[in-house]
Amino acid sequence: MRPLQAHEVINEVLSGSMDLEDHVLQILERVKEKEDTIRAFIALAPESSIRARVREVREWLREGRRPRLAGLVVAVKDNISTSFLPTTAGSRILEGYVPPFDATVVRRLMEEGAIVIGKTNMDEFAMGSTTELSAYWPTRNPWDLERVPGGSSGGSAAALAYGGADLALGSDTGGSIRLPAAYTATVGLKPTYGLVSRYGLIPYANSLEQIGPMARSVRDLALLLDVISGHDPRDATTLRVPPTSTFIAKPADPRSLRVCAPPELLEASEPPVKAAITKLLGRLESEGAAVIYDRHLTTIDDALAVYYTIALAEAASNLARYDGKLYPFVRIAPTYTGTATETRSRGFGPEVKRRIIMGVTSLSEGYRDELYMAAAKGRRVIRDEVLAMSRNCLIAGSVSPVLPPRLGERITDPLKLYALDIYTVIANLSGVPSLTLPVDFYSDLPIGMQLMGPPLSEAQLISAGLLVESLTGLAGVAAP
Ligand code: GLN
Repeated sequence: MRPLQAHEVINEVLSGSMDLEDHVLQILERVKEKEDTIRAFIALAPESSIRARVREVREWLREGRRPRLAGLVVAVKDNISTSFLPTTAGSRILEGYVPPFDATVVRRLMEEGAIVIGKTNMDEFAMGSTTELSAYWPTRNPWDLERVPGGSSGGSAAALAYGGADLALGSDTGGSIRLPAAYTATVGLKPTYGLVSRYGLIPYANSLEQIGPMARSVRDLALLLDVISGHDPRDATTLRVPPTSTFIAKPADPRSLRVCAPPELLEASEPPVKAAITKLLGRLESEGAAVIYDRHLTTIDDALAVYYTIALAEAASNLARYDGKLYPFVRIAPTYTGTATETRSRGFGPEVKRRIIMGVTSLSEGYRDELYMAAAKGRRVIRDEVLAMSRNCLIAGSVSPVLPPRLGERITDPLKLYALDIYTVIANLSGVPSLTLPVDFYSDLPIGMQLMGPPLSEAQLISAGLLVESLTGLAGVAAP
């Protein structure tokens, strides 16, 4: 199935050949039809408020304004603050919480006429790779209902994949945009660290994560990136750069494309994954691109240990705020400690508790040098290697070592779950951008590839992505 792409919808809406209300209602129908089985959304806006918003945007058009996302339906991951919908980060501890403000990215969407229809399911506090660790329910993969959509932004990816949204926002701390994109044949970008504001993002590991765009085609992803990117005075870690202008990017000329395909990012992948990516790289070569197979990324062996040590230390610190005082989920006890203990024991799921304990341990006196400090040094070594390679070529590789796992297959053993992130965490540890897009299907299961580049190379990645799309013909696909 190929629904209209977001940039096609916007052309028709702005030229007056499509009514935005018809478009929005058609997507809402699709959501109604699919949500019983897929369960991508934790919260959906009431139809009356969606209609009111449609009227508002239509009024803007009548006044002659040309908002860049007029009438486009956007699904927002549930760890991104919205003042008009609950924001739970997939956790019981935030059940019923409605933030008093909008995240900067949400404010920018609203200013451009987007219709935010709901908040999408995710692993609790973005800790996970399958969306099965949501405190609410697992989301299913629209391409195969027995399989996971990936995580933690699995709700956003699933909604896109079944045509329940034109565009979506996710967050990526160690792969949470890219794994779900790979498992659902959608497109996702982990932007350069500091390119997109994190103001209003419920934090997991601040030094690693970014909010990023998700879509069904590279062109649509560029449209969304241009709206959400750029300096934000409310987030001191944003770079002093203007918003990107990638929407106008042209497909890369293969003859001027240099791609490094380090064996460490491909060799250990399941045969169908490896075969699909190798085939695509071969096609790029036959179009005239230079593909270099003998550059190595040796530090990848330590990437998971380094990533999980740093991420969990930051998580333990971030999650200390949920003590029953500030946020709604409270079990009152006679003392402060009692209230905090009751609230945290009941409000957090088992994986979150495990991560708090590990994070606190690695920061404790006696363990700090051996764990947290060692990981911080390891991060520097990984980063140097990735940055050095990215100066000469775009880096291509697998996103996930395996095809989309079956529900239940990966969550029995934490280490088996963490192993899914082997290829994605290096971009976060290095701060570089990484684009994921579909390359093929293997008996109806999507396979994705990632392309990394140096910091702020988003336009280049998008050009390369447009070229890849022209070879795969997969732009805009959606599950039946
Ligand atoms: N799976 C990784 C983790 O659990 C990454 C999650 C993410 O990117 N938010 O930490």
